[in-house]
This record gives sequence, C-alpha cells and structure tokens, in this order.
Amino acid sequence: MNLLELRGLSRADVEGWLEAARAVRGGDPATLRRKHVGRRVALLFFEASTRTRFSFEAAAQGLGADVLAFSAAASSTTKGESMLDTARLLVAVGAEVLVVRDTAVGAPRHLADRLGVAVINAGDGTHEHPTQGLLDALTLVDALGPLDGKVVAIVGDIRHSRVARSALAALTALGATVRLCGPAPLLPAGLAGSKVVLAATIDEAIAGADAVMMLRIQRERASGPTFSSVEAYRRGWALTEARAATLPPHTVVLHPAPMNRGVEIDDVVADGPRSRILDQQRNGVWVRMAALDRAWRAT
Ligand code: ASP
Repeated sequence: MNLLELRGLSRADVEGWLEAARAVRGGDPATLRRKHVGRRVALLFFEASTRTRFSFEAAAQGLGADVLAFSAAASSTTKGESMLDTARLLVAVGAEVLVVRDTAVGAPRHLADRLGVAVINAGDGTHEHPTQGLLDALTLVDALGPLDGKVVAIVGDIRHSRVARSALAALTALGATVRLCGPAPLLPAGLAGSKVVLAATIDEAIAGADAVMMLRIQRERASGPTFSSVEAYRRGWALTEARAATLPPHTVVLHPAPMNRGVEIDDVVADGPRSRILDQQRNGVWVRMAALDRAWRAT
C-alpha cells in the first residue's frame, strides 16, 4: 500500500493510520520483527534530510528489515542516471518498499505508477510530507485528546511547506480548525476553506489556540527572495517568549524542524514545557514503522 499524500483522506482513514501507529507503539517488538526480518526497504533521498531519514532508518531497523540507503551525492545520479533507473536498480536487488524524497512535486507518485512495489512519500517539493502530517496529528491527539473543535495555528512560510499541507489534511479530517498565518507572500490564499482560516497577524492566529506549529522559512524551495531581515521577521512572525506567554496554559507548541532558533522560535519556547517537538520526533518512528508495516502487508 502506497502512502503518497494525506489530502482527500477521510476521518476514518486518518484515524486508521493513528491506530496503526499506536498499535506499533504499544505492541510486541519481537512479533513485528518476526514478520519483517530479511525484508528490504530502500531509502531514496534526492534532497537533504536529517530527521526523516534517521527516522525511517530507525523504523526499518525496529521492524528487523534491511535498509538499502541511497545518497544522491554519492551515487550515479551525479553521472546523469535518472531517478527511475536508480529506483529500478533498487527493486532489482530486492527492495520491496521505496521511501522517496525529492525536490520535485509528484516524484514518489511517478515511481509508484511505474514500479510494482509500494512507495512512501518522504517529502516531495512543496507538495506533501504525509508521515510528518500523521506524526503531527498523533502528537496532538496524545497532548490534547480528540481534535474536534480544537484550534491549531500554523505560522510561517506556508507557501513552501509540504508539512503545512499534510498537517492541514490530517488535522481538518480529525475535526480541528486550522489558522494559517505568515508574511503575505508566503501565505497562499488558495488554502482557505471551511475549516481553514487565514489570520492577518500571529497574535490573531495564536489567540486562544490549542496548539501552535511554527515553520521555518524554506529558502531552498523558494524561487525569489524571501525575507531580508531576521529582526523584522522576528517582530512580525516569531513565537517569542513574550508571545508564548500569552497562550492558554494547556497550549502546546510543535515544529517539524530543522528549527532556526532565534528566528521563528525562541530557545525557551522550543525547549520549554509547552514544546512537543521531541514527542513529534519520537512519534515519527512509530508512524513510519506503521507505514512500512502497511506497505509490506499489501505487496
Ligand atoms: N523537515 C521538513 C520538511 O522536510 C520541514 C522543513 O524542511 O522545514 O519539509
């Protein structure tokens, strides 16, 4: 079973994914390992990654599977080999699941349509990052309980954020309202909808919110100039210590990372009691184990 995007998933679909992740989290590791030992997963990362790559690697190892790890910089892509030919090679040497990250929107689907193996999208350009959306949803349900009627503010460079797109799909499917907010050029109006509100200022976005997800400016995904002055960005759009102090006591803070500390988020907030950032990272492994388990179940 592929996992290419969260957009269009029903509430039952998203709940099914969270249930699968919880089952792995609370399950017997030895049983899972017996199921997957000797299976091969290939990690095809054509774009930089720290967390997602380690997390998939830890997830595959947790299942007892073998990992074929590919790094674009050290491969024949530098000699002009196409992504499809590289993927075909990995399938030929036994990979049954491909985990794919690329700068191009739709790259994982392109491979899924052409190869007879399951593909998991680990982030495609500005489009989606479905395992991130699921780990965000799992972390929020852990922290807040059911998300019906809850308000989640997502603040920063929404335009270039695949994280925001996947989170939007998962969180609205679970009944949350999402407030989006960021500098005007980084806030696409097309995302607004019945459960998605565009907020003009960060103060408006975070007022009374149950959760705040901060995003960095993703300069590498932007075509033009983004923001020139860190100070101006901080003044307008950062979750500073002072702003975080205005949040209700129960409100939690997320960040997909990498963080630009001192730009979109202050250290004391990132490392403080509201922060669920390390929970996101821990939950990422459970979600990815569930995604690999499901991918194999259907191949
Ligand atoms: N790590 C996330 C991503 O791959 C968020 C980011 O890069 O800012 O999209």
